[in-house]
Amino acid sequence: MQKEKKRICPECKGIIKSGRTEMVYELENMKITIKNVTANICGKCGQSFVSGRVAEEVNRMVNRVSEDINSFVKTQPEVSRGHRKVAIAV
Ligand SMILES: [Zn+2]
Repeated sequence: MQKEKKRICPECKGIIKSGRTEMVYELENMKITIKNVTANICGKCGQSFVSGRVAEEVNRMVNRVSEDINSFVKTQPEVSRGHRKVAIAV
């Protein structure tokens, strides 16, 4: 992919530092929050930037988890109604 860019926020020109963020996925029948995702965060405006590689990993994990949850729910009809929230820390 791309080489490491200068760590300057494109929004506000603030300094971007390494940190952690949350990624939220709204799926058809559930909401998955991934916590502790490695990201670069602007110290000025708080915008977070997740690298393509990390985003890909998280995506893969979300797909796997949502499959697991869906197959679990099939065996647990009483929890199959309504929206579910799932939080995962990485
Ligand atoms: Zn910024």
